[in-house]
Amino acid sequence: MNPLDHPEADHQRIVFRRDEDTGLEAIIALHDTTLGPAIGGCRIMPYPTRDDALRDVLRLSRGMTYKCAIAGIPYGGGKAVIIADPATQKDTMLLHAMGRMIDELGGEYISSFDAGTTIDDVRTMGEVTRHVAGIAEGFGNASESTAQGVLHCMEACWRKLDGGSLKDVRVAIQGMGNVGARLARLLQGVGATIVVSDVHQRACEAFDVEIIDPVKVHASEVDILAPCAFGGVLNKHSIPEINARLIVGGANNQLGEASDAQLLRDHGILYCPDFLANAGGIVELHHQLKGGSKDKLSFHLKSLGFTAREIVRTADERKLTTDVVAKEIVDARIMRAKK
Ligand code: NAD
Repeated sequence: MNPLDHPEADHQRIVFRRDEDTGLEAIIALHDTTLGPAIGGCRIMPYPTRDDALRDVLRLSRGMTYKCAIAGIPYGGGKAVIIADPATQKDTMLLHAMGRMIDELGGEYISSFDAGTTIDDVRTMGEVTRHVAGIAEGFGNASESTAQGVLHCMEACWRKLDGGSLKDVRVAIQGMGNVGARLARLLQGVGATIVVSDVHQRACEAFDVEIIDPVKVHASEVDILAPCAFGGVLNKHSIPEINARLIVGGANNQLGEASDAQLLRDHGILYCPDFLANAGGIVELHHQLKGGSKDKLSFHLKSLGFTAREIVRTADERKLTTDVVAKEIVDARIMRAKK
């Protein structure tokens, strides 16, 4: 089947590569480049099948289009996946092969890190292509900006719900990795009470707080749930069990189906669209690429909270889901750029 005929494909271009010499088996998906070159990380995962990898890269690259548009940065949505086990198969030869594949697109796609890749891996790819981002001197790990963006959106949405700050508000964090652990520190900094969860309990132990069983974390007795592990966690099975009033987290593609946004609304749960909440990392890449200052980055991250507040207000007024309102903003920005 032509990958562009895949039921989940509304993409501009999908490139496959299978290279016997280096072991590279990879897909790059360019979703929409109306606003600028496609940007998005390179994920390395031992996908069970090629179709799983294709579905993942299609969904993730579409999410990048939404993220760039909602954050007001001049890029389109792209993503790369390598089908491999990062623990055993990631080496310089593989990363250079990926770098060359990126380079062949001539700047149409700019890559960075994602699950299974690190900043050092991006540097290694950057030895053979200049079309990489997130490795500028003077900036740290972009996951810090992702966590800050989540915090700003959480503060804005909670204020809209409750009128107050996050002080003493209970937040459950699902997934204590790059984003979750940083979010935990930021939340402690503003006086929130956190409970945490991870399939690897060690990831939680740096925090002297209650640890929740990963199977039950979505149903925690908390005010806010912060999904920071993986996608699809908000679905017809989990939503009826959620006790939180607000969901704001760093994970991509949190909704199992687009219709789950309405299910959340029906259950009286306010949901901050994931592509807004977790746009902080891509906002940082934009400021790194244009050589911007940390002050400008910081203001841009705060603006994600302003956008969240406006989306919640409009969704309330028009009795729509926040997901629909956020996607209307994205579509309008892309349509304007096309004219
Ligand atoms: P990570 O791999 O560092 O952390 C994920 C954590 O979730 C790991 O500690 C893992 O053990 C844990 N986990 C896995 N399954 C779990 C489960 N069932 N219950 C609880 N914990 C579980 O990844 P990350 O970089 O922190 O990214 C987390 C999510 O945020 C991903 O969906 C990623 O695509 C998204 N995201 C990350 C960034 C970023 O800047 N890192 C930016 C945007 C979106």
